[in-house]
Amino acid sequence: MVVGAGLAGVRSVEALRARGYQGSITLIGEEPHRPYDRPPLSKAVLLGESDSTKVESDLDAMNVTLRTGVAAKGLRDGVLETTEGEIPYDGLVLATGAVPVRLRGEGDQHVLRTIDDALALRALFAPGVRLAVVGAGWIGAEVATAARRAGCEVVVVEAGDSPLSVALGPEAGRYTAPWYAEAGIDLRLGERVASVDPGGLTLAGGGTLEADVVLAGVGVRPSVDWLTGSEIAVEDGVVADEHLATSLPGVVAVGDCAAWWSRRFATRLRVEHWDTALNAPEVAAATLLGENAVYDPVPYFWSEQFRHMVQYAGYHVGARLVRRGDPERDATWTLCWLTDDDRLAALLTVDRPRDLVQGRRIVESGQRLDVRRVTDSSVALRDC
Ligand code: FAD
Repeated sequence: MVVGAGLAGVRSVEALRARGYQGSITLIGEEPHRPYDRPPLSKAVLLGESDSTKVESDLDAMNVTLRTGVAAKGLRDGVLETTEGEIPYDGLVLATGAVPVRLRGEGDQHVLRTIDDALALRALFAPGVRLAVVGAGWIGAEVATAARRAGCEVVVVEAGDSPLSVALGPEAGRYTAPWYAEAGIDLRLGERVASVDPGGLTLAGGGTLEADVVLAGVGVRPSVDWLTGSEIAVEDGVVADEHLATSLPGVVAVGDCAAWWSRRFATRLRVEHWDTALNAPEVAAATLLGENAVYDPVPYFWSEQFRHMVQYAGYHVGARLVRRGDPERDATWTLCWLTDDDRLAALLTVDRPRDLVQGRRIVESGQRLDVRRVTDSSVALRDC
């Protein structure tokens, strides 16, 4: 059985069948929809270029029973408790994803996680509409991009000193700050929102900000509340080992809800990105079927914002930042994070896909780099 009918859930079903599992499979999803992809929600859907992002997967042909509109409520001894009664299982994949964090206050606020969220938000975009985006993270930047293109007056309020500061740290994120002004967006850094109230935002430092529409883009938390009281280890996500096995026998976890042990980075990672939802299920399915597989990726994600393709690979915590090219002057640039012994821990590329591809391989290989050459963007990364 697979709980959570998002990308990680569908990929789990596919991986189980691809590995020859012939038993019955039920895919349970809380949303009323068939599985769909989320990255286009803040891009093509908000831009009005697409209305549907359904995942191309023939569940019927795979003989999978899809039960939409059914939520899991708890787990015990081989039984999944759901809103539609108890369902016994022999093996279980947890793929319940993540849910957006909401702001305090009585005013209307939007979040962007589901196709319904995206269509509701898009319907409000119109020239002159005042949109306040709280949070200059990945979602905030992409929503601001789309809203501005629709002619909205956009203010982005960010508590940190730079955009993307939570994801990348203040130094890396600050190079993206000029993009907001260039797009005609009012970016307010170091400003904390106290609450969302009728008519707009109340700011923690005093004062208010009037808005017709408020979007909370302040991050997500793993969707694991339903496991409270079930005897499974949960700590900022479902705790999983390097095989994606959880603390309960016969139960694996994948995607945004899983906090797995990374052999490569010697730490527990919970990565809320598409590539993890796409690839982790291969390993989870193998584990469930008794094979010895390890999930040990170099995490990867991308974001499309302000007409830039931003890509990241690796894990930068504890590593030092080295600039490759001059982000304040060059049209395209790359930031590298290096370990104490000059190995590439992570990199962020802006419109430099070749750097990304080569850098990801270098992170994987663990080879040492000549730092002087790394800073020279005319030298291919693979030759550093
Ligand atoms: P989800 O997609 O969240 O699916 C989990 C499913 O489980 C949901 O349908 C949920 O309703 C269901 N569920 C939850 N609880 C229960 C329960 N108790 N019982 C039954 N069902 C339950 N990543 C990138 O790398 N690049 C991008 O550009 C990018 N853009 C994004 C844009 C948006 C707007 C969003 C929201 C995400 C974006 N991501 C991006 C992240 C990426 O989409 C996620 O990492 C990916 O969707 C995670 O897949 P998942 O299957 O683990 O979780």
